[in-house]
Amino acid sequence: MIDLPRGLILLGDPVTHSLSPAMQTAALRDAHIDLTYVARATPSNQLESAVAGIRTNNLAGNVTIPHKLAMFALCDVTTPLAKRVGAVNTFWMDNGVLHGDNTDVGGFDLAARTLLQANPSNGSSRAYNVTVLGAGGASNAVLAALEHWDNTKVTLWNRTPDRAYALSQRFDTACVNLDIADAVHAADLVINATPHGLLDDNYTVDIALLPPYAAVYDLVYKADETAWVRAARHAGHRAADGLGMLVEQGALAFERWFGFPPNREIMWRAITHRSYPLMGRS
Ligand code: NAP
Repeated sequence: MIDLPRGLILLGDPVTHSLSPAMQTAALRDAHIDLTYVARATPSNQLESAVAGIRTNNLAGNVTIPHKLAMFALCDVTTPLAKRVGAVNTFWMDNGVLHGDNTDVGGFDLAARTLLQANPSNGSSRAYNVTVLGAGGASNAVLAALEHWDNTKVTLWNRTPDRAYALSQRFDTACVNLDIADAVHAADLVINATPHGLLDDNYTVDIALLPPYAAVYDLVYKADETAWVRAARHAGHRAADGLGMLVEQGALAFERWFGFPPNREIMWRAITHRSYPLMGRS
């Protein structure tokens, strides 16, 4: 059993638009845990002093853009999954030791499998084709999840070729294809891991280029879904935005801090005011 933290904190820059405080506060209240989860804007040159405060005050929490790689280096102990991704998004103290994990991997995995309603490749003799758009930190977590999917072939596209090749060296299950139309033309699942659509209604790839059977998962999320997800659903594709991943990674983080799962329905409702679409989960 880990030490009960004295408080929960989110470190990032910027953090003002994060939904995590509302989501985690709802989970804490539901579990009758009398702690607060606060977001603290932390420029990169203040991360080390913030981590010193975490150690002194026995805090737990999350890190977000741009600190996930730096936090990996600052933790005393990291999980095998965090090592595979090379990034930490969840931390806690135990007996004076700072631990780090990466719950983006499990969060993506659970949310994507829910969209697909199964282990996608089960029972099929042909490989399941997944195309990942983007080669940044989130794409790392996605590839770490996909390497555990059975009989799955991953195609990686990125705007900057060198980053795509560097990532495919770390995850040799992924092949680079820099022609975006060709990269998606036979995809069973297309994943957007770029920020496209966050601040505008742009897409990384036109829905018309996808096969009609392809599912669409957008890591980006907005209150009323992204334009890409709306366009995909309008064209008859199964599609979901990144809110499911956000809730799942947050729920997995809560489990690391307290040793039991939170109420995901409560977390989802706190940020969407809608009922929870992820099946079979508390
Ligand atoms: P990142 O490390 O900065 O990487 C961004 C990636 O997007 C890079 O591959 C970059 O390509 C590409 N990119 C940026 N602008 C682009 C553009 N205009 N056109 C084409 N490609 C572009 O960011 P990240 O941490 O991977 O995050 C990516 C997105 O995932 C963010 O929007 C974030 O909010 C979202 N995310 C969601 C969750 C969730 O829980 N739902 C979790 C993590 C991240 P270059 O290499 O060419 O620069």
